[in-house]
Amino acid sequence: MELDSLYQEVILDHYKKPHHKGLPTGEIQVHHVNPNCGDEITLSLAIRDGKVEDLVWDGVGCSISQASASIMSELVSGKSVADAQIALQEFTEMMQSKGKYQGKEEILEDAVALAGVSKFPARVKCALLGWMAFKDAAIQNGAEL
Ligand code: ZN
Repeated sequence: MELDSLYQEVILDHYKKPHHKGLPTGEIQVHHVNPNCGDEITLSLAIRDGKVEDLVWDGVGCSISQASASIMSELVSGKSVADAQIALQEFTEMMQSKGKYQGKEEILEDAVALAGVSKFPARVKCALLGWMAFKDAAIQNGAEL
């Protein structure tokens, strides 16, 4: 898999030093797996005053899945549910574009580093795993996504 080297560095950085990774302690915990690759994410969060808070995740798997979960958690933590939803939609659109859509950096920040992954259908599920876990957890916490 060939990715732009600057983007490669962003991904490796998040893989080596993941943000918001720890033991999820929320009452509602979601566990998502990507059996194609063996990736697993457990995640919990709280919604307070319409904002995403206390997002903590733990996981194992490939660098794409773990880096993407780290990037997602950094991006949506502290954001309003509405802004997190915009980021989620933008990321999903980028991931489903088969390499045609690079994503808006002002919405996705570091997550644009994963744009190249959308060219590799087998890896798209790796990149989306953490984001789907976030969506699931937000809905279970009463957010309308
Ligand atoms: Zn994977």
